[in-house]
Formats: sequence, C-alpha cells, structure tokens
Amino acid sequence: MQFENTQLFAKDLDRQDPLAHYRSQFHIPVINDKQVIYFTGNSLGLQPKSAKEAIQIELEDWAKWGVEGHFHGRNPWFAYHEFLTGPTAKLVGAKENEVVVMNGLTVNLHLLMVSFYQPTKERFKIICEEKAFPSDQYALETQVRHHGLDPASTIVEIAPREGEHTIRHEDIITAIEENRDELALVMIGGVNYYSGQVFRMKEIAKAAHAAGALAGFDLAHGAGNIKLDLHDWDVDFACWCSYKYLNSGPGSVSGVFIHERHSSNTSLNRFGGWWGHDKETRFQMKPGFQPIATAEGWQLSNAPVFSMAIHKASLEMFEEVGMDALCKKSKLLTSYLEFVINAVGEASEKANFEIITPEEGIERGCQLSILAHGQGRDLFDNLMAAGVITDWREPNVIRMAPVPMYNSFEDIYNFGQILKASLT
Ligand SMILES: *Cc1c(COP(=O)(O)O)cnc(C)c1O
Repeated sequence: MQFENTQLFAKDLDRQDPLAHYRSQFHIPVINDKQVIYFTGNSLGLQPKSAKEAIQIELEDWAKWGVEGHFHGRNPWFAYHEFLTGPTAKLVGAKENEVVVMNGLTVNLHLLMVSFYQPTKERFKIICEEKAFPSDQYALETQVRHHGLDPASTIVEIAPREGEHTIRHEDIITAIEENRDELALVMIGGVNYYSGQVFRMKEIAKAAHAAGALAGFDLAHGAGNIKLDLHDWDVDFACWCSYKYLNSGPGSVSGVFIHERHSSNTSLNRFGGWWGHDKETRFQMKPGFQPIATAEGWQLSNAPVFSMAIHKASLEMFEEVGMDALCKKSKLLTSYLEFVINAVGEASEKANFEIITPEEGIERGCQLSILAHGQGRDLFDNLMAAGVITDWREPNVIRMAPVPMYNSFEDIYNFGQILKASLT
C-alpha cells in the first residue's frame, strides 16, 4: 500500500478498519483533557471497560454466597481457571490439555524449569539470548546455581554481531549445533522486549530437538501480539503474562503451555500443590501426590478469581476478534508507523532515526524500537508533555507498540506531528 503522511489518509484507514470499534471498549488515559496516544501496551495494556463488571460479579457472589460461591456463584470459583482454558489454547495455538493459567510469569518460569531443566554431567548447558529480560536472566542464573553449577560456564548467550542490533537466526542455530553434546535447554524470550525482534521459534525448537535438548520460550511480548502455533511448532514449554498485550491488569496471572507429550506424563518431576492433584481424589486429602495428566497438573494453588475475572473478560475479546484479524491490522498499523517515522526523519535536519526492529516479515510484531541519533531524553520528555506515552531507554532508544486492539491510524498520524515538534 502507498502510504501518505496526512490526516485525511489516516482517517480513511480508520474508516476501512474492521476492528476500529474495539477502541471504544477501552479506557484511554486522559492528560490535560486530551486522550493520550498510548504506545505502551507492550508494558501494561489498557483497561477493557468490561473489566469492572467482571470483578463486580465476583464481589457480589462472594457477598451473597461466602464459601458456597465455589459452587453456586455465577462463575463457580471451584474450577474458575477452566473458563480460561479454551480461549487460551486458541490464543497460542495449543490443545486444551496443554495450557493452564496460574501464578505470575517468573514463578511459572521457575516451575517449568524444575521440570524441563534437569542437568546431567553430560548435558547441562542453556542457550539464551543476550540481554534477555532481567527477570528471565535471574531465573536462569539461580536455577543453574540451584543445581550447583556455575552460570558462567553453563549459560551460553547469543548476541547480535558487531555493529548490529538484532540477533541473526543462523547464529542461534549455529550455537545450538556447536553445543549439541552438552546442551540441555534452549530458553529464549520469543519476542525480544528491547528490539521487538521475533525469533523463529519453530526452527529453533527443531534445532534444539535435533541436538537432543528441549526448547522453551518466554512469550511475555508474544502472547496477544503475534500468531503462535506452539503445538505445531513442537515447542516443549512456554509461559507469558496477561498484563501486556493481553490487557488483564497490573501483575495479573500468567499462562503456561506444556506440550502434551510432557503434560500427559505424570511421572515428570515437578513441584506439587493440591490444585495440581487428581480432581477425583483431591478432597479425600490423602497423602501421595497424583498429578492431573494435563498442564493443570502443574497448578499449586486454587484460582485467584479477581485477577482471572479480568483476564477472562479480556480473553473473550481476543476470542471474538481472533489473532488472524488482529495480526492483519497489526502489520498495517506498524508499517504505517514506520512510514511516518521515516517521513519525519527525512524531513528534519535535527534527527536521524534508525529503526532497529527487523523489517516487516516474520521477525517482528507490532513493536518498533527506534534509535534516535542526535536526540536525548528531552525528546522523550517533550513527547510525554504532548500526551504521547512511549518507553525510553538510555541513551536514546524509544520503544513503542501501536496495539491493533485499540490504537488507530490517526494516533499514528498525530504522533508523527508531535514527534516533528518535539525534536531538539
Ligand atoms: C514483562 C516480562 C516479565 C515480567 O515478569 P513478572 O513475573 O510478570 O513480573 C518477565 N519476562 C519477560 C520476558 C517480560 O517481558
């Protein structure tokens, strides 16, 4: 499509956008009596208007029923997590016996590593990307130490080549092959939080398996952003949070995928809790942990209903829209943002923008990360003062995510105008 950097053109794209009406189903923050241009849905997604009623229902049922709400509530709490299973499976391309929603993200990463990182004398290495999200780095480091190993000789980090900002796919594959005799696990953030790069998970899982290792992905920046086919990609395990692209509120629950070849294996090592115990005999309260033969067998605690109530309301929206339609809009929206940024950069003497996120194709979702050469933090402050919320990383990287569920093409045009006026 031949883009134009005009308001008329942007409004026209909004008119043709079949998902445009979803914007009105979210609360858009207002600063100085004006709706902000919100590009940080990759950090904390906006609040769906349906969230309040979803919580209200559970509060009312708690007031009305007390403990009996577990069975008599409108959404009985006893098996509340099961309401999330169908939509979650669709969201990530999984079978229903492969997913469960529970805990927070880093907690789940640890629980999964208990099962899927069991180093031996021969196989103990973990491959991950350089500059993984800090929580993931700490999880890997402490898991390694937990097994009495030294992180420096156990964790192999793959970095971009000199002078480059993203990691070459072939370099990941080469590292897997080079470490094949000692490799236990490849554990990568499926979408890099900094560069927005999407890793080719299917091919990475294949290479890991060929080397005799397992492959897991942290999909905090993938779930609700890109199309996932975790079952068909033969991924061993994955986890993600629900408060970024999935709009389920600060600190909300995390999703987990465990391929059915593992989720059905009740002899697989894990940490147990009563909610992971066989449902038929759970309330006999007998000794002897017998895990459910699905991903639910990794649950520890009974469902945190208030967090899950919002997640349920949000997932219903994703189910209604479908990831295909969302990704279609996402590609167009992000390409338009790229066009507008380049147009502003070309027209200006002051700035030189370098988009470090890969070009449109298989290696990006909706996030763009931009190196603003010649600019400093003043640029970010000016954007903020003008009502544009982005994410700034020192010394001069702006991360932004136009989110197809609620951002408009006009947002992007308006952003371009503000960007031009904000250069220093
Ligand atoms: C956001 C994010 C986290 C945050 O973890 P919590 O346990 O939810 O605080 C972890 N890992 C990655 C890759 C993230 O993007």
